[in-house]
Amino acid sequence: MSENRPLYPAFLELRGKFPRRPPEKAPKAAMKRSMREKSAQARAVITVHGPDDVGITAAMMEILSEHRASLIDIEQVVLSGWLTLCFLIEPTDASSALLGDLERRAAELGMSLRVDAVESRVRGVCAEGTRYAVTAIGENLGARTVHLLSQLLAEHGANIEKIRRLSRSALTSLEVLACLPEGEEQARRLRAALVQAAGEADFDIALQRERLTRRAKRLIVFDMDSTLIQMECIDELARLHGAVDRVADITARAMAGELDFEASLRERVGLLKGLSEARALTIADDLPITEGAEEMLRVLRALGFRTAVISGGFTFAAEKLKERLKLDYAYANELEIRDGVLTGGLVGEIIGPVRKAALLREIAEREGIAPHQTIAVGDGANDLPMLEAAGLGIAYHAKPKLKAAADTSVSRGGLDRILYLLGITEDERAEILAEPER
Ligand SMILES: [Mg+2]
Repeated sequence: MSENRPLYPAFLELRGKFPRRPPEKAPKAAMKRSMREKSAQARAVITVHGPDDVGITAAMMEILSEHRASLIDIEQVVLSGWLTLCFLIEPTDASSALLGDLERRAAELGMSLRVDAVESRVRGVCAEGTRYAVTAIGENLGARTVHLLSQLLAEHGANIEKIRRLSRSALTSLEVLACLPEGEEQARRLRAALVQAAGEADFDIALQRERLTRRAKRLIVFDMDSTLIQMECIDELARLHGAVDRVADITARAMAGELDFEASLRERVGLLKGLSEARALTIADDLPITEGAEEMLRVLRALGFRTAVISGGFTFAAEKLKERLKLDYAYANELEIRDGVLTGGLVGEIIGPVRKAALLREIAEREGIAPHQTIAVGDGANDLPMLEAAGLGIAYHAKPKLKAAADTSVSRGGLDRILYLLGITEDERAEILAEPER
């Protein structure tokens, strides 16, 4: 392969570009001059590519080390058994010999090697802008989706830095790290375009600031009805009492944000007057837990998350759910019961939209967790203040009003898809789930 020079035109050109090293103990002025000259001279990006095997990176680094080459940056990725290793080196007076050795060794290992001259200026990661993570989740994210995403990012001036698959085998989740030179306003426009395109193409999309805090969340709170469980408890109680038509209609309108939450709750609970406590409690015996909820919670607990359900529904179901899902906190409204029968009233302070948000803050404060480290998940309009109070608000299979206002939404699949939004891969999740829970 070393004889096949035409494959590496850049390599040949670059050999001539490498400068001689300045004298070791040059006077200060001469040193400054030589530094200036040096900054104008090319560094080299070396790309080694081919079938992956043990020891390829070690072999390349051994040569750099022997030549005392200055390694500035390095990245590698393996895709389906194919390795791409890139590294950036500083030019030295021995660069020709170094490149020759690298080329020979790569050929022996059956790898291709390419050398490109780059500007000497060191550019930090997204040095002139803000880094964002775009997470796409869907059933089959093919080339069409990646084309759509990359085209939208390009149209909005966002430069893609990294793409990785979060799902295990099928391409059901992708994370794209992109740099937005204009920051927040640009992100707002991009988010709107991404959400619209994803909606039309039937996948979920999230755009989040990429920084350490995205992956350092510590508290997650959930709404209960139609979020952690697949029903509205009050509608089921009404079904037992022969009032489901009236109650379910009010519930739907309240969750859509058409009615005042507290007034609508009091009206619905009033329609339950006379229902026996024993019958009401049967609702909690077999709560239909949302797909993926248990797996997601196990993973988050393993990562040290505190967890809570904050519900505008009722304590008898929320307490059962807390026990079943091993949640740390449960808050909900309490039905008034007298002589084993529902009175149609409620006890204590109503947990409405504003109280839900306040409870999130209270739990965070009690646990010593910063607001930006919290996540809230809900589906109804009454969850909006709670989602807004959280560091990350996720609308889950949500009503349009909440979906439009939330940071991000998951409208397809189970609750475990939330893990993708936190940058947790399916492999990492499987590793945690394979261990017995402590
Ligand atoms: Mg709900």
